[in-house]
Amino acid sequence: MELLKARIRKDGRVRGSDVLKVDSFLNHQIDVDFLGELGKEFCQRFEGCGVTKILTIEASGIGIACITAQFFRVPVLFAKKNQTRNIAGDVYTSPVESFTHGRTYDIIVAKEFLTSQDRVLIIDDFLANGKALEGLCKLVEDAGATLIGAGIVIEKAFQPGGDRLRRQGIRIESLARVKSMNEETGVQFY
Ligand code: 5GP
Repeated sequence: MELLKARIRKDGRVRGSDVLKVDSFLNHQIDVDFLGELGKEFCQRFEGCGVTKILTIEASGIGIACITAQFFRVPVLFAKKNQTRNIAGDVYTSPVESFTHGRTYDIIVAKEFLTSQDRVLIIDDFLANGKALEGLCKLVEDAGATLIGAGIVIEKAFQPGGDRLRRQGIRIESLARVKSMNEETGVQFY
């Protein structure tokens, strides 16, 4: 999506060899009108798929998921990162290795909000090693729900998650696919 690539070129900041900061519009400060354009694009790409629920993971996926959900007119369910391992109540749970924090935590959703009737679209801000997406897919599978696919704002395609999960048959639509990046030259896209 050219609009997104241009915005990343203008406002994105590369940190080290593999972290892209887009804090000014996507996942810290949020440019709501701009994210509306991204949400519309997801809606077009998954049109006619019968999506009944959007699933994401706290915290940085929630903004784009909510804005996207307005176009689908379906609820958003966000998986919570369980800090305590003291899981209360009736929940689906899955372990996720964090890209940004380098540790493993459990993500949980309440069973009452994810059922076998649901047709689920996963939305997230980034796809890197694919651990977050994998964990979310497991929640969908455990609920017996139908996975429609995943809409990702920025896929760092030089990291292995996207290829691995596509090979497993998951439909992944990324609005920008980063081929390579570094602090001097910035970001190159496919
Ligand atoms: P994965 O599980 O695919 O390795 O990483 C995905 C998660 O890590 C996303 O939910 C996102 O929050 C975070 N993440 C991964 N790479 C980046 C990055 O380059 N920049 C930012 N801001 N977050 C990232």
